[in-house]
Amino acid sequence: MQDRDVVVVGSGPNGLAAAIALARAGLSVLVVEGADTIGGGARSAALTLPGFTHDVCSSVYPMGASSPFLRTLPLDRFGLEWLHPPVPFAHPLDGGTAAACHNAIDDTAAGLGADGDAYRRLIAPLAQAADGLFADLLGPPFTIPRHPLAALRFGLPGLRSGRGFAEAYFKTREARALWAGVAAHAVIPLESRPGAAVALMLTLAAHAHGWPVARGGAQAVSDALAGYLRSLGGEVETGRRVKSLADLPPAKAVLFDTSPRQLVAITGDALPGRYVRRLGKYRHGPGVFKVDWALSGSVPWTAEVCRGAGTVHVGGTLDEISAAERAPFDGKNVEKPFVLFVQPTVADPSRAPAGKHVGWGYCHVPNGSTEDVLDRIEAQVERFAPGFRDLIIGRHVMNTTAMERHNPNYVGGDISGGVTDLWQLFTRPVAALDPYRTPNPRLYLCSSSTPPGGGVHGMCGWGAARSVLRRLGVRG
Ligand SMILES: Cc1cc2nc3c(=O)[nH]c(=O)nc-3n(C[C@H](O)[C@H](O)[C@H](O)COP(=O)(O)OP(=O)(O)OC[C@H]3O[C@@H](n4cnc5c(N)ncnc54)[C@H](O)[C@@H]3O)c2cc1C
Repeated sequence: MQDRDVVVVGSGPNGLAAAIALARAGLSVLVVEGADTIGGGARSAALTLPGFTHDVCSSVYPMGASSPFLRTLPLDRFGLEWLHPPVPFAHPLDGGTAAACHNAIDDTAAGLGADGDAYRRLIAPLAQAADGLFADLLGPPFTIPRHPLAALRFGLPGLRSGRGFAEAYFKTREARALWAGVAAHAVIPLESRPGAAVALMLTLAAHAHGWPVARGGAQAVSDALAGYLRSLGGEVETGRRVKSLADLPPAKAVLFDTSPRQLVAITGDALPGRYVRRLGKYRHGPGVFKVDWALSGSVPWTAEVCRGAGTVHVGGTLDEISAAERAPFDGKNVEKPFVLFVQPTVADPSRAPAGKHVGWGYCHVPNGSTEDVLDRIEAQVERFAPGFRDLIIGRHVMNTTAMERHNPNYVGGDISGGVTDLWQLFTRPVAALDPYRTPNPRLYLCSSSTPPGGGVHGMCGWGAARSVLRRLGVRG
């Protein structure tokens, strides 16, 4: 096996981002991927019927489009095109009403009635500083913010729970529900901190750079990253599941785009026992039950604004979403789950034959749960889009076991690489000033189990690459 400066295990968005940052610094880089296709959580496949392309994992890219690192890469030259739905996200309620987040703050505020002014007062000053905030908040932890005033303005409300924020700032059922829906992306109970920070970040992303999908599917994100990496001299090998360090060629540094659990299994006694024990305390959160639909027509949402939304948060009121998001932490599934529903064909008709559509949705379930909640997910969509079930001409279902089989990083179906509560926000995967490095100077972790956590943004990979470059004394 030929020597490389760096080997990256795993070709998820963070593995590829790390590889690019290192190749850009002039190092020779090999990415070794266990699956037959690259991309980890950013892959597409024909899961249902011929002519329908589905996003197996991620589908919408608020943080991809807003990522301080990805935005520096010429990914458009390698085929990536962000396609924006008319409305980033919407939230239907019983009775045919809905709240929505539009690209323009004023349009969003106008739809929030009595809460419009509060929304504008809160979001407008932060949105003006969005790119600086993203750089400070998504970068490696424990660094001095370059935009301290904006960080403070963000941090004070952001440290609240999703529910605490909604109740402190909004009065109406619509605004509180809209906030609850976006806070539920944090995959922690709505009463836990820092749910408001995740909601604020995603809302700012909607106003700054949108919530786009990738033309042709999630795979286009990974293909563009890999294409750019190859143009820098990097190599990617697929179908090579790494089981031990002996499977890898010699290298100055090895980065793992894996769960901490796999890092331990692969590295054996190359890591000291004390560090391994600390990694053993790392906690995973709820899993997901995911459904992909082939649809004979567009989803018949009662509320008009939902028809143009790329993402629809299906779960009703703040209280309903609170109950739904708490249950998986208590080891239960609720009758009315909170469903994250995406309709990529609203922005990208190429995903389905003419006139047809694809739907994508999941709800949170207890870690490792194998209970079938398909019926409950579809009932929730049907509740706000009567006639939805009649449009289904194909479907593909994945429970937590199937998720983990698809990608071993999704331990028990946890798609965030570990629960992101206040403690683990700052201790991913252990409490350390440089969380990417391990006590072994050759070994690093670069997956979403490091800061800033889950999502397709490449910032974990970028942070890990900077750590490697520092240790090797190479200018990035
Ligand atoms: C159902 C679902 C929906 C999601 N929706 C969104 C969304 O809409 N927007 C968003 O931004 N994010 C979303 N996410 C989260 C996002 O996909 C992940 O946070 C992101 O992919 C994490 O990137 P990563 O590089 O850290 O790891 P991964 O993407 O998990 O990649 C890890 C890679 O390492 C490989 N690997 C693991 N072990 C080995 C080994 N031993 N040998 C070789 N290769 C190995 C895996 O095969 C995989 O390719 C979703 C995830 C899921 C599952």
